[in-house]
Amino acid sequence: MPEFIRKLYGLAHQRFVGIGDYDNFALTSTLNHMIRIKVFVFNPFQENTYLLYDQTQECAIVDPGCYTENEKKHLKEFIDSENLLPVASINTHTHIDHVLGNSFVYEAFGLKPLIHHEGFQFLESAQEHGMAFGLKVAEIIHPEIFLNEGEVVLFGKSQLEILYTPGHADGSICLVSHENRFVITGDVLFNGSIGRTDLPTGNFDLLEENIRTKLYTLPDDYIVYPGHGPATSIGEEKTGNPYVKV
Ligand SMILES: [Zn+2]
Repeated sequence: MPEFIRKLYGLAHQRFVGIGDYDNFALTSTLNHMIRIKVFVFNPFQENTYLLYDQTQECAIVDPGCYTENEKKHLKEFIDSENLLPVASINTHTHIDHVLGNSFVYEAFGLKPLIHHEGFQFLESAQEHGMAFGLKVAEIIHPEIFLNEGEVVLFGKSQLEILYTPGHADGSICLVSHENRFVITGDVLFNGSIGRTDLPTGNFDLLEENIRTKLYTLPDDYIVYPGHGPATSIGEEKTGNPYVKV
């Protein structure tokens, strides 16, 4: 890819930082294909559910957190209205707020969650975790396919590379699109913050190391789409994140 397109693309991205719809099509028509990103903020934890899709209309759902009937309806209506075909459902980790919509996604689209195998045990006890927060998890959808570092999830003409980034929770992964220059970080890295490490399987040293070695080594212009709160970029976090600085 010529350098000028990269630069233009980086700038184009910057305009869309924030909560809402992320439309990567603008100013990027010279690239082969673009991933569009729709974000929904779901459940009492204000979790970001991402819908990624390209011009083939195939889409990947990341961290379906829809809980109420209204939230489920909202997700389904968007998918129907855009004529999308969900082909993959991925959990960046298996904390309750990121998996609450797994059963709905299975019911509606027949998709079982793709997870890292280290998140399996936690997912299997999602009903107990839900109860602790007064949330009802209708049914556990048992994963059949597990994701490992370096593998890619394909949808349409797009691909998402898996980074293995535990520290906030066992089995945490991040999803990178090098072609569209972004990373979905789950609860590993946030805008101005990092994931909690005081929950079971949390480990600050491990989280910090993974942020430094796997995320901060990505190019500065890569946009970061976190599991909660607004988007940011690798460069902004490297210089401004108070918890893990370069
Ligand atoms: Zn979490």
